[in-house]
Amino acid sequence: MANPDEQRNGVARDEAEAAVRTLLRWAGEDPSREGLLDTPKRVVDAYGDWFSGYGDDPREYLERTFEEVAGYDEMIVLRDIQFESHCEHHMAPIIGRAHVGYLPDGKVVGISKLARVVEAYARRFQVQEKMTAQIAAVIEDVLKPRGVGVVVEASHECMTTRGVHKRGVSMVTSKMLGGFRDDARTRQEFLRFIGDPRG
Ligand SMILES: [Zn+2]
Repeated sequence: MANPDEQRNGVARDEAEAAVRTLLRWAGEDPSREGLLDTPKRVVDAYGDWFSGYGDDPREYLERTFEEVAGYDEMIVLRDIQFESHCEHHMAPIIGRAHVGYLPDGKVVGISKLARVVEAYARRFQVQEKMTAQIAAVIEDVLKPRGVGVVVEASHECMTTRGVHKRGVSMVTSKMLGGFRDDARTRQEFLRFIGDPRG
């Protein structure tokens, strides 16, 4: 059983569970009803999972690099990295995928590390534009490649399940740095790799 005094980021677990009961009451429920008794505990556990990115340092994933790549200096692309995030405006899910490419300058990372970087930023409250820029910035900063491209496509449940109720729409954001920004051929090669109609 979870310790009610267990703290996370300075908040006791029972305080977090009480906040869930408050929202249940606000919505019109009786939190003491049998079916809801364990709900605050489950919600708090789910939050621990959905927002584990705050305890993750994306830089660490990029710091172990391989330099013995036999002079490979062409573009490296990891596409279709699926992620789940939450918008910081409504705390509603953002479900999507990211495509990440870079032009190495001697340093190459294990390909799963790019997915870890996406995950570390996704598992926080986010704005899609900000997340796209953060992924590109940390790759540029740690790997110092000749260029970075990040494209994110996602649907926002705050838009599909409430508000304007538009289903099937997705938002696309991109951040291009270095050669991906300055060289149209590099950018197009990247967009073609990820199947983007702009490529
Ligand atoms: Zn939202």
